[in-house]
Amino acid sequence: MSAKPQVEIVKEASMLKQKSMIEANYEKLSTAKEKGRKVASTFVPGNLNELIMCFDIVNNLPEINAIQNGMRKKSGGLIMEAEKRGHSEDVCTYVKADLGMIAKGNLGPDGQKLPDPDVLLLSYTGCFTFMKWFELVREQYNCETLMLHVPYEGDGHATKNMRDYVVKQLKEVIIPGLERVSGVKFDIDRLRQYLKESSKAEDHFVWVLESAKNKPSPIDAYFGGVYYVGPIFTAFRGTPDATEYYRLLREEVAQRMKDGKGPITPEGDFKGEKYRLIVEGPPNWTSFRDFWKMFYDEGAVVVASSYTKVGGLYDLGFRHDPDNPLESLADYCLGCYTNRNLPSRIDLMEKYINDYQADGLLVNSIKSCNSFSAGQLLMLREIERRTGKPAAFIETDLVDPRYFSPANVKNRLESYLQMIEQKRRGAAPKAAA
Ligand code: SF4
Repeated sequence: MSAKPQVEIVKEASMLKQKSMIEANYEKLSTAKEKGRKVASTFVPGNLNELIMCFDIVNNLPEINAIQNGMRKKSGGLIMEAEKRGHSEDVCTYVKADLGMIAKGNLGPDGQKLPDPDVLLLSYTGCFTFMKWFELVREQYNCETLMLHVPYEGDGHATKNMRDYVVKQLKEVIIPGLERVSGVKFDIDRLRQYLKESSKAEDHFVWVLESAKNKPSPIDAYFGGVYYVGPIFTAFRGTPDATEYYRLLREEVAQRMKDGKGPITPEGDFKGEKYRLIVEGPPNWTSFRDFWKMFYDEGAVVVASSYTKVGGLYDLGFRHDPDNPLESLADYCLGCYTNRNLPSRIDLMEKYINDYQADGLLVNSIKSCNSFSAGQLLMLREIERRTGKPAAFIETDLVDPRYFSPANVKNRLESYLQMIEQKRRGAAPKAAA
């Protein structure tokens, strides 16, 4: 049997830039110990990248390792390893991919050994799994654990008390802890400089996200969006490299708009936008390309998604602020998508449907992510009621290849697109008899 030919992805300047940034960061991680640099492990939502950089600490993100391993088809074996060691089938598969990777010698996605962390920095933004994950990782390493407790926005907004509480912890726990681990004295002007750089990148990033309001949309805000969030959600926010990445990306998207082009896909330019969707929930990573293809083959483009907001809701106006450095770090952590209650997440999806003139909401319900999945059925019903637009469910998993059933996903997607068609026909004015 002959193997299916691999389609070569079109590489634009911003993609090459991001690829080299990711490679350089893995290189930095794998050589950290020989160069005498300290390493922090930390999570994406509410990450304190600018603060970590103030202490010359290298940033390792276990979720990103799991995603990269998923895309490289390595996560299945790692998850099995974790299950063999007693972790249940229901546990978040990012966690199991990470624990399996550690158990098998801690080789990172690029095959190089990842360093033992010197500090586990847990900025706790809403998902309880984060806490349990680091409890398990902590058993493996004899290192300091720092926890920033970010109060949940249970009433749908942050209060001054919440902000003060986070700032107090930054001053009294996190900064002294990072000074202790790194031996570097905190310099607030250095933090201000990084935050200034962050806000420049954030402006470009929001411009790119909002370009999807155009018809046709020049970007796919889910499948393309997961690449666009890379630098700003991870170890690069606050660096000139990230600003340069977003400047390049903005230029490319502006050109696509000028040329009246749709998003770029792994098979070249997407033509013929037929459906504009909002997607809630993370994507599946183990069959990412096949998953994406199901959408663009049908003329469906995602114009906004919740997943691209897990590392910050910049499109609602938040920017890191060099004039209020610690306060803006607190605001950032408080406002992350995972830290928002269900009613405000529903409001956000409704807003996206209206602002981006979308045809409806598609929920990708992730088997092992309780943080996203809880309440999605209510969200679906509520969005249908408020907007009159159809909503639907598909089910996959993050990085467990056993839970991606292509036939099921394709069937559900096709039926959903038919529902949209029917709705359109129903809404069209009747021809005169
Ligand atoms: S938000 Fe979901 S994917 Fe992320 S750690 Fe929590 S359960 Fe896992």
